[in-house]
Amino acid sequence: MSSSKVNVVGAGIPGMVAAINLAKEGYEVLVMERGSQVGKSPYTPRLDVTPLDKPMVWDYIGLDLSPCFKELKGNIYIRSHCFEFTPPNIYGVERSAREGSIDNHLYQEALKTGVKFEFSTYIKGPNDLPGNSIIATGLNPQMLEALEIPTIPVYGYWNYMEKPKVDRSGVFNAYLDEYTAEYYYSVLVNDIWYSLLFDAYSELGQDALDRCAQQVKEREGQEIKEWRRVQFAVACRDLNNPRLFAGNKILAGPLSGLHDPFLGFGVVAAMLSGKTAAIAVKDKERALKDFKKFNRNFERTWLIRKAYEAVTPNIRLSLADLVLSNPELFEPLIVGMGGIVPGHPDTSFILQGLVKEPNAPYFDKAKESLAKFLSDNMARFL
Ligand SMILES: Cc1cc2nc3c(=O)[nH]c(=O)nc-3n(C[C@H](O)[C@H](O)[C@H](O)COP(=O)(O)OP(=O)(O)OC[C@H]3O[C@@H](n4cnc5c(N)ncnc54)[C@H](O)[C@@H]3O)c2cc1C
Repeated sequence: MSSSKVNVVGAGIPGMVAAINLAKEGYEVLVMERGSQVGKSPYTPRLDVTPLDKPMVWDYIGLDLSPCFKELKGNIYIRSHCFEFTPPNIYGVERSAREGSIDNHLYQEALKTGVKFEFSTYIKGPNDLPGNSIIATGLNPQMLEALEIPTIPVYGYWNYMEKPKVDRSGVFNAYLDEYTAEYYYSVLVNDIWYSLLFDAYSELGQDALDRCAQQVKEREGQEIKEWRRVQFAVACRDLNNPRLFAGNKILAGPLSGLHDPFLGFGVVAAMLSGKTAAIAVKDKERALKDFKKFNRNFERTWLIRKAYEAVTPNIRLSLADLVLSNPELFEPLIVGMGGIVPGHPDTSFILQGLVKEPNAPYFDKAKESLAKFLSDNMARFL
């Protein structure tokens, strides 16, 4: 293969961002995708929620994807305690083959720049590819295994409904509860309601699914008759997971470890790493510099995540409740977790979304909450 030709595996976000950028620079780009069309993978259709610093991301990737991102406001439930969350830059984005999806938008853009696609093509592993190929196969466990990348298995249970009965577009809900160490979320945009309950390391039992479905009915008015099951893998198992290269191949998207190890956000990192992979085709040093910049907080976030996993569910949920009840008191903690989303440098959106009255007497409220938390949880600390 001549040096002006590049193969990209996977027509997801990073694969197509990389392909478009390379085609604009005059490369001949072929995207190989196992699905029969863009937006059709075992993990779609779905809606993802993400914080997003639009100017920073659009500037870096050289594309304005604003039409794909719909502003959201929502509720976070910690057990039965509901927090209204109206941050300025949280968005919902559709992952599907439909017209309003980011997949379809990027596909149309890629065709315009001359990118070629080969559908229904499954690439088993890196050895089937020439050097300098970009591997962007997402959270597909087989490719991660072939690349010998350490992963955490994730088990998801989801629902998807077009034209749902309850129409409150631009809304998301998140639940943290004892039945999962991770969380449940739902989103309503583009006339779709999508929900996902997930856990890492092991499957959830029927009791957990039933309890969550009951809460969904009470809180969102949606009836879940049957959860659909999905399994994927995230490359956040080890501290050394982030890697831009695998031999002479370039990695892009979540398999490069450019993925939030705490809450699982991957969309922003997927967009950024598509561009980083395109840079890596001709300038490995510069790409590595960008990659390290975007991943600079991986280690810190990974360690916070391990501490979070080590405490009991009750302490975990009580702490989350305490932090959301007293965001100003916990400002250093929230800001200290800056960069929890790789490539998203600013966490002020969390504070802006939670602090309704900046001059409210937070300290008195915080003292009360802290006293309650300690009396409720003291026995567990001792
Ligand atoms: C169920 C689910 C919910 C999520 N929710 C959120 C969220 O709310 N917020 C957030 O920020 N992130 C979320 N993420 C993570 C985020 O979506 C991903 O990290 C991000 O989209 C990057 O993935 P991708 O586009 O590369 O992957 P994909 O969209 O999976 O794209 C990879 C492509 O590669 C193709 N492919 C895979 N293997 C092969 C192969 N061997 N040969 C050829 N083609 C192949 C696939 O068919 C697919 O089209 C979620 C992920 C999942 C799975």
